[in-house]
Amino acid sequence: MALFGKMDNLDADSSEGQSQDKEITDVEKTRVLIIGSGPAGYTAAIYAARANLKPMMYEGLQPGGQLTTTTEVENFPGYPQGITGPEMMEDLKNQAERFGTDIRFGMATKADLSERPFKVTIDDKKIIETDSLIIATGATAKYLGIEDEEKYSGSGVSACATCDGFFYRGKDVAVVGGGDTAAEEAIYLAGLASKVYLIVRRDELRASKVMQKRVFDTPNIEILWEHQTKGLFGDGVVEGAVLVKKKGSPEEEEVLIKIDGFFLAIGHKPNSDIFRDYLETDQVGYIQTVPGTTKTNVPGVFACGDVQDTVYRQAVTAAGTGCMAAMDTERWLAENQ
Ligand code: FAD
Ligand code: NAP
Repeated sequence: MALFGKMDNLDADSSEGQSQDKEITDVEKTRVLIIGSGPAGYTAAIYAARANLKPMMYEGLQPGGQLTTTTEVENFPGYPQGITGPEMMEDLKNQAERFGTDIRFGMATKADLSERPFKVTIDDKKIIETDSLIIATGATAKYLGIEDEEKYSGSGVSACATCDGFFYRGKDVAVVGGGDTAAEEAIYLAGLASKVYLIVRRDELRASKVMQKRVFDTPNIEILWEHQTKGLFGDGVVEGAVLVKKKGSPEEEEVLIKIDGFFLAIGHKPNSDIFRDYLETDQVGYIQTVPGTTKTNVPGVFACGDVQDTVYRQAVTAAGTGCMAAMDTERWLAENQ
């Protein structure tokens, strides 16, 4: 069950570009630097530390990553009764520390991947020179920015249908968005909930034709065209949403829907800005990796977890690619040093 996912962008410098150059004299060296402390980063750390690579990790502004914003995680293998996100991430952290990962609080604010050793600036104050780099900075779900999203955090607002849909079996829910993600989330939820409203701000979907057809063919999805969300209401938990139809037009009207769950599906932002001068990304900013590996276009730089995953974005897939990144790094170091 999702608590409120941070709306703040976790990216170091998404709005301002790379931080300004200034003389930094505090320089440290390492063989393996891991940026990010979600399931991908910690798993990479566990594997790299057990391979005696003595990895250094910077946790970023959200130690433990996205799962620290959720209560129950029921789909991570190995926890038959489920576990809270913060507890699970504490377990992963302890496991990474047990094998000697040097875990530090700090944000990577700049990266120079033009030559080896790579240089990563931390909090604009310190430079880490590293022989190899594992990027595990995740992706952040976008929110509308209305106050009620925060008010009903963990009480009906979610940005992940796969994670939280189960809690809405037989209930009525709404999905906001008109892209492929919204279509996919609506179809997924339609298999669990009794009714799904798809709140679309325009009079057409952005989603691909094939996904549109699936939405249109699903009888318990009702599309609310040209609707925008004004607010949510309910006594402690979401009981409904206030929408505005045809906002700004003479036909503008307020519409109330009764729902138990409100799902955001208006896109994600991968936290890749500081690496984009050097790494190939797709249009949205997801780091591109060689299929079947975690290798980026820069030898010695590896990416794992949500920052390179346009499709799955789950804790277990993040952990899986974290393992791959550590093993790819180990092999690369063995061949290149
Ligand atoms: P993240 O968990 O996003 O972690 C990214 C890390 O990078 C953070 O530690 C952040 O501080 C750090 N970082 C970012 N930028 C920088 C920087 N510049 N410098 C240093 N550090 C940086 N998945 C499931 O499988 N099951 C669930 O039940 C589930 N529930 C969810 C509930 C919610 C509310 C949300 C938002 C997501 C949920 N997910 C769930 C998805 C899951 O959380 C993600 O797929 C997973 O956390 C991705 O892991 P990651 O390691 O790639 O990145
Ligand atoms: P997206 O394509 O950018 O779509 C975002 C949707 O959210 C758009 O419909 C947009 O409306 C709407 N939106 C954005 N801000 C909003 C706001 N403030 N209020 C209301 N609505 C808002 O993002 P995505 O759906 O996450 O997809 C990202 C990429 O992944 C795409 O390339 C997509 O094709 C791909 N993807 C593919 C699949 C698949 O093939 N199965 C599944 C998921 C994602 P407008 O249309 O009006 O801009």
